[in-house]
Amino acid sequence: MFPDIPTGIFKDFNSVVDNFWSKSITLFYPEIQEECSNCYYNGMRSNGTYKTGGPYPFENGSICPYCAGEGLKTVEPTESLTARIYYDRKSWIDVGVKVNVPDAAAQIIFKMTELPKVQQCKYIIPEYYEGINAYQNQRLFRVGEYYPQGFTQNPVKYVTTFWSYRV
Ligand SMILES: [Zn+2]
Repeated sequence: MFPDIPTGIFKDFNSVVDNFWSKSITLFYPEIQEECSNCYYNGMRSNGTYKTGGPYPFENGSICPYCAGEGLKTVEPTESLTARIYYDRKSWIDVGVKVNVPDAAAQIIFKMTELPKVQQCKYIIPEYYEGINAYQNQRLFRVGEYYPQGFTQNPVKYVTTFWSYRV
C-alpha cells in the first residue's frame, strides 16, 4: 500500500498542469437562433429599424442587410476550455482499461468540473497545434467514453477523452 500523500503536494502539481501543460481549446455548441444585433425583432420578423451599434447601418423602413429581414440570426455559441492535449499515441496516458478508438487523433484531459461543458459541445478546435497542424483549424469530434483520471488524494479530478477528425 502507498502511504497517504498530503494534499498540499497536489497544489503544485495542479498548478504545473494548468500553467505549463495546458492548451486553450474552443468548444462549439449546437446552433441557436438569437435576435439580430442589427435590427429589432417584432416576434415574427425584423421590424426594419436599425439597432444603434449594429454592424451594418441601414435606412429605417428598409430590409436589414444583416439578417435579410428575418429578425433572427443563427449562431454557434462557443466557449473556451483549458486542457491537456496529446496527439502522439505514445504520449497518451493509460486510462486503466483497454480503449478501442482506432480513429482517435488526440487524447484530451480536462478538469472534472468542465465535464458538463464538454458533454454539450458538438466539436472542438484546439487553438494550438504542434507541427504542420499548427496552421490549420481542424475540428475534432469526441469518440469513446469519459474516463475519470487522477490520484485518489488529489482534490482536483480530471477526465480523459479521445477525439477524432471524423464524426
Ligand atoms: Zn437584422
